[in-house]
Amino acid sequence: MRSIAVINQKGGVGKTTTAVNLGVALAQMGRRVCLIDMDPQAHATLHLGIEPRNDRPSIYDVLVGDCALAEVRQELYPGFWVVPSDLDLAAAEVELAGVVGREMILRDKLQEDNHPVDYLLVDCPPSLGVLTLNALTAVQELIIPLQPHFLALHGLGKLLETIELVARRLNPALRVTGVVFCMYDATTRLAQEVIQDVEEFFASRPQKTSPWAQLRIFQTRIRRNIRLAEAPSFGQSIFHYAPQSPGAEDYRALAEELLRTTPSLIC
Ligand code: ADP
Ligand code: MG
Repeated sequence: MRSIAVINQKGGVGKTTTAVNLGVALAQMGRRVCLIDMDPQAHATLHLGIEPRNDRPSIYDVLVGDCALAEVRQELYPGFWVVPSDLDLAAAEVELAGVVGREMILRDKLQEDNHPVDYLLVDCPPSLGVLTLNALTAVQELIIPLQPHFLALHGLGKLLETIELVARRLNPALRVTGVVFCMYDATTRLAQEVIQDVEEFFASRPQKTSPWAQLRIFQTRIRRNIRLAEAPSFGQSIFHYAPQSPGAEDYRALAEELLRTTPSLIC
């Protein structure tokens, strides 16, 4: 199994859009996929047409209560499961404040779970708090979506510091598989310049043993496409809402590119 968190502490960069549509693309290619929504805003849950409900357990009950993942997981399409979130999750940060090992709850729950999937994807919230730390501790790979505008690099140093710390202390297997540019506009020179800046940024950082030593900048760029922005309000992935759109084409290509990357070696 490959386990991948889609992470960036910035909001609005394309994390949820990527987690949902990459997940569905992989499922359509015959892979068994489970998507865990770790964001209290529950955008991935809503994007997939699941109404967060108080009377049904969510990832909150897995992290804070004693629910098993199996009690929360829903099969949405054949071979595609979702562990939904809800607004209660916003309280998890505070409720877990005094709990020993609070960064490792998701990892432990996954270890207790024997549900066979090929790809486990985690959609992270826009912060570096306890929920994101749980994701970083539980997975082996990271995908960082970036928007190619002039603030793209802002905050990336802090994100990498956190990743490195988690890799050192909690999860030695953690690797950054790649950066994917979302909302890409090929017609602007700015986008090209930012992509070059990002390449230089990674090249200039200590490489050898870092979790991003094998990082790739995905060749697939997710173009800005209005269909991708519309799909969530219909509760559908891009493959159900507009299967012929450039957005669907790009996420299919990203899934294919991801399938070609070998999982990073675990050391
Ligand atoms: P994040 O999860 O990082 O906060 P989202 O995936 O929710 O970011 O994206 C932010 C907003 O931009 C959403 O309204 C989403 O529908 C829209 N969006 C994401 N990717 C694209 C794209 N390639 N083209 C157009 N709109 C996009
Ligand atoms: Mg999001």
